[in-house]
Amino acid sequence: MQITHNISLKPYNTFGIDAKAKHFVSVSNIDELKKVLELTEYPNKFILGGGSNMLLTKNLDSLVIHINIKGISIVSEDEDFVLVKASAGENWHEFVLYCIDKDFGGIENLSLIPGNVGSAPIQNIGAYGVELKDIFWSCEALSIETKEIETFIKEDCHFDYRNSIFKQEAKGKYIIINVTFKLTKHNHKLHVNYGTISKQLEIMKISNPTIKDISKAVIDIRTLKLPNPKEIGNSGSFFKNPVITKSHYQTLLENFEDMPSYAISEDEVKIPAGWLIEKAGFKGKRFGDYGVHKHQALVLVNYGNAKGADILKLAELIQHTIKRLFNISIEAEVNIL
Ligand SMILES: Cc1cc2nc3c(=O)[nH]c(=O)nc-3n(C[C@H](O)[C@H](O)[C@H](O)COP(=O)(O)OP(=O)(O)OC[C@H]3O[C@@H](n4cnc5c(N)ncnc54)[C@H](O)[C@@H]3O)c2cc1C
Repeated sequence: MQITHNISLKPYNTFGIDAKAKHFVSVSNIDELKKVLELTEYPNKFILGGGSNMLLTKNLDSLVIHINIKGISIVSEDEDFVLVKASAGENWHEFVLYCIDKDFGGIENLSLIPGNVGSAPIQNIGAYGVELKDIFWSCEALSIETKEIETFIKEDCHFDYRNSIFKQEAKGKYIIINVTFKLTKHNHKLHVNYGTISKQLEIMKISNPTIKDISKAVIDIRTLKLPNPKEIGNSGSFFKNPVITKSHYQTLLENFEDMPSYAISEDEVKIPAGWLIEKAGFKGKRFGDYGVHKHQALVLVNYGNAKGADILKLAELIQHTIKRLFNISIEAEVNIL
């Protein structure tokens, strides 16, 4: 374990922003993590996973702690279910592939989401009709204040759409060190009716899909749809889909009759933020080295050497425009630093 100084975080964030960390350390076990937390000469600490959900708008003055704790183990199993524990530094997609290889079901729709296992509960990652909460059993987290390890079961985490206790009252107070998932061993409950999964399975000529087929379909769709951060810097969906009242939606329909929506309760609907951004004319807009992706209006991109502050300004311009045009506030999903 070695602390380095003034290093570029460009290889550590999928936006590819060249901001610097004043101090940086990578930890590969819990003892190292505890030791680092005790270093009083670095009062400000920042936890870094795969860097796929952050926009760096400035250099970080803190000690950046890169969580690189690895390990996957089976905690318990019966005839029907298995509890699998993965350490925080495991790559999420590699963990998904590990489960699929063992025929453990429930996680397949979450294939190819970037980032690490330890960050997955923070915003309750979700895709193609499945959210982390659907397979979450518990997680262990180190309290930054007491240095004790605490267990959080599902009810403790207050999971919601791209939200959890770790983005709210527990924010900055815990470091997740491992997550345990409850997965099925057979009779997998398949989710094929979301997005274009069933269409993709048809293209693949598969009528009785296995979890491996679904994972493959999701990987194919995502590869076609989303820009690969290795080619164009990005952090996935930059904004959350806003929720508005049904009456507000009815009023908007008078001017925007093709506005899509998904009912989420008796009097609320969710609007795809990508549709709003496209309607506001931002899709494909490029400003020098940054802009809005040409196929995905929800994805802001860095074409090379953009500054995080410029991307933030663009995000704010989009937010103001959406507010002005639709009287809807859209909130960033990405963590802005
Ligand atoms: C191309 C692309 C597609 C994406 N698609 C999706 C998608 O379909 N669905 C979805 O939900 N998300 C998606 N995302 C967002 C991202 O992949 C997830 O939010 C992911 O969980 C972030 O993991 P990370 O390890 O990269 O987190 P980081 O970006 O490293 O960190 C995110 C936040 O969590 C904190 N943190 C990190 N690790 C820990 C820890 N162990 N303990 C406590 N705090 C920690 C950090 O301080 C930071 O505030 C996408 C991103 C990209 C680039």
